Amino acid sequence: MDIESSHISSDALTGLPGRTAFLAQVAALLLQIPDPGDPPAVLSVDLHRFKAVNDGLGNEVGDVVLQRVAKRIRDACGPQAFTARISGDEFGVLLPRTSGAKELADRMLDVLARPCAVRGHIVNLTASIGIASSTEGMSAAELVGVANIALHHAEKAGGNQYVVFELPMQESSNLRFLLERDLRAAIALQQKELQIALELDQFSLVYQPQFNLESRRINGFEALIRWVHPQRGVISPGDFIPLAEEIGLIGQIGTWVLRTACCAATKWPDDGGPQLLLSVNVSAQQLNEGPAFVKLVAQVLSESGLAPERLVLEITESIAVGDVAEVLLGIRNLGVQLSVDDFGMGFSSLSHLSRFGFDRLKIDQSFVHALAPAEPDSSTGRPAEGTALKVSRRAQAAWILRAITGLGIGLGLSTIAEGVENQTQENVLRLAGITEAQGFFYCRPLSEDEVLQFMAMYRFVSSDDGGWQ
Ligand code: C2E
Ligand code: MG
Ligand code: MG
Repeated sequence: MDIESSHISSDALTGLPGRTAFLAQVAALLLQIPDPGDPPAVLSVDLHRFKAVNDGLGNEVGDVVLQRVAKRIRDACGPQAFTARISGDEFGVLLPRTSGAKELADRMLDVLARPCAVRGHIVNLTASIGIASSTEGMSAAELVGVANIALHHAEKAGGNQYVVFELPMQESSNLRFLLERDLRAAIALQQKELQIALELDQFSLVYQPQFNLESRRINGFEALIRWVHPQRGVISPGDFIPLAEEIGLIGQIGTWVLRTACCAATKWPDDGGPQLLLSVNVSAQQLNEGPAFVKLVAQVLSESGLAPERLVLEITESIAVGDVAEVLLGIRNLGVQLSVDDFGMGFSSLSHLSRFGFDRLKIDQSFVHALAPAEPDSSTGRPAEGTALKVSRRAQAAWILRAITGLGIGLGLSTIAEGVENQTQENVLRLAGITEAQGFFYCRPLSEDEVLQFMAMYRFVSSDDGGWQ
């Protein structure tokens, strides 16, 4: 055994050493590096949406899941590594040598993605892993810190993958703090401006069309927020929505999104066929406002004049299982549709899906991307980065799609795939029986004006051949 662990006190739940012991072990190893040509590495492992397990199934089930996860990590690592539980659902692995770290990360991702049966529930979790090698003069805290930065990148890239730390990542991590400061300022400005003049605000909405794969017609659009920063340019919601949630500002942003999108949708053309749907993303904190949120939706619908059945609220899978039954029911009673966003990435109790009366399942784009690599990079002709997926993962994704279609049919829900980027992906989706699709293959998100131009052009084309091709 390369790393001594026998005398270290352990966490009562998992039997693994804790954060302090882990840092001490890293520090000790950095003082006596066994092979300077192949330096020690730290792997930071974090579970994806573990909170939803605790919220949805209770802490007792969550505890058992954590014990299983700890055992799987320990077994995958073997005696050469020092494994520890750093915090709630975060684990650390110390390797005396970097070689083999990527293979170990792959092994851990595989074992952690296997379903876990606990007290009659099937829990599906995935993990993200950050890998960092020690460099000369690095302290234990610094090594763990850079592994965490790599972990953050793995999570941001969609999770269920590992990322190896590289220096430029450090700069973008510093950027997060600057963004937080600017976001607070933008909101303050936005609030003030909302009272004075709405046209000065820094937020805007774009709309991405959603297509019916059978009729080849546009079903509707999803509203997606953009933050146009005066210095930094357009900032993606993936970067600032989690921040806005963390600092409690999502409610104000969400209200603005709902009002603006509903008003825009009332201007969309009506060609006599089924009316175009408007999908709006909703955050957990908005639902947690309870009856006040239902009241807000009702008020926005009445102010804008949008028919309730044209509005679809997209709720991510992790919050769809929390304690939001009453709010969801209230929304349904207004006649508004509900869609589970990023389905397949979190964990859902299937009984909740039918009980809360969801109308649609929106399949997470990671499954769609796994079906076929993205188009090659046009400048280099090489496949786009991150597309070297294992064949087994592709096959797995195709099976998951088929299972979701079956679930949709069984529960009477429509199924929509997001992130479709090429014809191969569309072909597999069609074969699997998915009913709708959205993605860059069809159209990038459009501004409010572009939607109107697009619809005029689309109606002209589709009147000839009935579709987008
Ligand atoms: P989402 O709701 O799952 O939205 C889909 C995301 O995938 C959008 O990213 C969209 O631009 C992107 N996308 C669409 N087609 C493709 C494709 O073919 N390939 C790839 N790689 N990506 C594609 P976006 O706009 O950056 O939004 C990211 C996430 O931010 C959204 O994920 C949603 O969870 C959140 N979000 C966006 N707008 C809002 C909002 O108004 N309120 C809240 N609470 N969240 C929002
Ligand atoms: Mg969405
Ligand atoms: Mg999604």
